[in-house]
Amino acid sequence: MTLHVPLAVVPNLKRLHAFVSALGEVIDRDRDEADILAGGHILLADVVAHDDWLPDAYAQPDPVHYRQYLLHCDSRERFSVVSFVWGPGQATPIHDHTVWGLVGVLRGAERVESFTRDASGGLVAGPVEILRTGQVDAVSPTVGDIHRVTNADAGVSISIHVYGGNIGAVRRATYAASGAAKPFISGYANATLPNIWDRSK
Ligand code: FE
Repeated sequence: MTLHVPLAVVPNLKRLHAFVSALGEVIDRDRDEADILAGGHILLADVVAHDDWLPDAYAQPDPVHYRQYLLHCDSRERFSVVSFVWGPGQATPIHDHTVWGLVGVLRGAERVESFTRDASGGLVAGPVEILRTGQVDAVSPTVGDIHRVTNADAGVSISIHVYGGNIGAVRRATYAASGAAKPFISGYANATLPNIWDRSK
């Protein structure tokens, strides 16, 4: 019997390595959040314009919940890079971040509903945006930090996120429709990371 095994496409991890290196340079150089978001936006737009680098292990949906896979964390936890993988119909709860963040869509599309809080702590619905493949959005306590993200594609959607901290360990909150906040720490779905440090090839 002949087994027909498809040739695995070798992910171009040099792209992820170059991205985290360049991001580190932006963060070394810029102290201002607006400058970091502007510099990071250019880098993330380039990385999600090329779908040749994300290893399959970090692109696997879960049947029930969206998944977040840590791809890289800065040694001083100044930033982290995460792949979010959404199966059909999956969504986050309404949540905040407490640090700056950038979201770039690598595959599919995402619906982003923004919220603010009024003086009594209630949630006020803001704009709804569809982010398509290649587009980049920003969050932070300064530019707007509370949102809900839903897969807007019939198939799997994947977005690449960068945050100004080790996001899986950050104490933040989810929100009920009433505005009631519930503390949460997201963690990550993966126990191992892509090896971007084998530079022998
Ligand atoms: Fe978010």
